[in-house]
Amino acid sequence: MKGIGASPGIAIGKAVVVEKKQPRLTGVILQGESDVQQEVQRFEQAVTSAVAEVKAVIDTLPADDGSTEVLEIQIELLQDEQIISDVVEKITSEHRNANDAVMEVIAAAVTTLHNLDDAYLRERAMDVEEAGNRILMELDPTLKPSDLIVAENTVLVGEDITPMDILSVDITKVIGLVTRTGGKTSHAAIVAKARGIPAVVGCGDALASVKNNDILIVDGGEGALVVNPTPEMLHEYTAKKKEFTSQANALGALKDTVAVTTDGVRVKLMANISNAADLEASFAFGAEGSGLLRTELLFMGRTTLPSEEEQFEFYKNAALQAKQKPVIVRTLDIGGDKPLPYLHLPAEQNPFLGYRAIRICLDRQDIFVTQLRAILRASAFGDLKIMFPMISNVSEIEQAKAILENVKAALRSTATPFNAAIEVGIMIEIPSAAVMADLLAREVDFFSIGTNDLCQYTLAVDRMNEQVKHLYDPFNPGVLRLIQNVIEQGNKHHHHMGMCGEMAGDVTATLLLLGMGLREFSMSAASIPYVKNLILNTSITAAQEICRKAMSMRSASEITQYLQAVTKQ
Ligand code: PEP
Ligand code: MG
Repeated sequence: MKGIGASPGIAIGKAVVVEKKQPRLTGVILQGESDVQQEVQRFEQAVTSAVAEVKAVIDTLPADDGSTEVLEIQIELLQDEQIISDVVEKITSEHRNANDAVMEVIAAAVTTLHNLDDAYLRERAMDVEEAGNRILMELDPTLKPSDLIVAENTVLVGEDITPMDILSVDITKVIGLVTRTGGKTSHAAIVAKARGIPAVVGCGDALASVKNNDILIVDGGEGALVVNPTPEMLHEYTAKKKEFTSQANALGALKDTVAVTTDGVRVKLMANISNAADLEASFAFGAEGSGLLRTELLFMGRTTLPSEEEQFEFYKNAALQAKQKPVIVRTLDIGGDKPLPYLHLPAEQNPFLGYRAIRICLDRQDIFVTQLRAILRASAFGDLKIMFPMISNVSEIEQAKAILENVKAALRSTATPFNAAIEVGIMIEIPSAAVMADLLAREVDFFSIGTNDLCQYTLAVDRMNEQVKHLYDPFNPGVLRLIQNVIEQGNKHHHHMGMCGEMAGDVTATLLLLGMGLREFSMSAASIPYVKNLILNTSITAAQEICRKAMSMRSASEITQYLQAVTKQ
């Protein structure tokens, strides 16, 4: 069975199927005012009990456990003001009982999230659904799952597997996870990764055929599931498992080794993060700081803009957590595919070509100035740098820098501390910027190449459109030529320059990018050991030769095949 490989490794064990009891609408309409009041109280009581239950689970976990964060999100959602007031409104004005009101409000919130283009936020629909289910279970205890008894070597199988499901079993006995729905950023994936449990998600309807006690092989790297394997397959996967474990141990041992090529060239490996908490986890993989702190999440999933104080705390936390290591804070990259409902941005024909990121910030200076003030104030607490996204011309840099200077002057006038020498950089993710990298290099302290957008704009392929997905290929020689130009120009101007698009964490690209002259890679933290391993085993001379050969080839498939072959050697 094929699914999506969400957490690497091989697990061989027995299936335990997690059954979910589906809540149903009761259709009850409340009669008198006292019933309504009672029902509101019953709802509030259910929320309080649900919060207490999640807190009790958190208390049983060690502080550095990767799953406490998702549980804290649960508490926030259970206490979400919008959801609570929508439910109370339904009870009081429509006289629905608490059960039905919760079901309908949660269903509406989930639909809104499902319709978003952003994969991460779409997955967050599952958090909201889980919060709703927790309240429903308090309102109707018959919905509570029966206790799962798991033996040693259990593989949990379910529709989706929530943190609560995982935490309500003896996790030390769970060696694999498999789900019908979900993607790489689903909870099952996040928790499995944090705990190093192999997982395959999104297996689809075929998973319904798996029964309790079936023997399963979970290949989390390949995204494959084998049900009741033959003895030959068992033999094959047992060997594969051994090999994976010894490789993982060897890579784990590289955590504190600096990335240096065999001919002595130092390369910096950084992590892409969304908040301060991600930093801790990325240090465990050997990250040397963050080459991209995406600030969008701070602005999303809420009903008003975050205040300067709120933002200041957020950036200050990142600065402190980084312990003097650099963190590149990217200013708001919102709009287009990542809407903020409360900004009431107009609907657009071509959101990716429209009103987004720096374009909004230069237009809505109230938003931009608040963010810059907060970042600058936080820069007094660590090594923060500022990065502007979606730059397409010199004028945007000039305007953004002028606003930054005004903000600095205002802070100086009130003797507010900040790092006056804070470095300012831009994302190179629009083809015009990549082509005129020589001109832009004079304007800023650093570049970071955003291959995700650069690839979609260069190839005219919407990165969300399934129909043209096959054309989205960063190894297209046209995209590679642009990347090479940016790296050459950046190096010529003695920039510290990085890459923070997905390509930076793709091992197939590592040698090519090294050969082009890239010396700073920022990626999802879990990829760092793999990229580091390649760097430690190559010389720059060899990488340059690989780059020369690859750049003489005519197609993405030819280049990829060649790079895969040299990477395996
Ligand atoms: C990119 O475009 O490569 C990038 C890192 O930014 P995002 O994926 O957030 O648009
Ligand atoms: Mg981008």
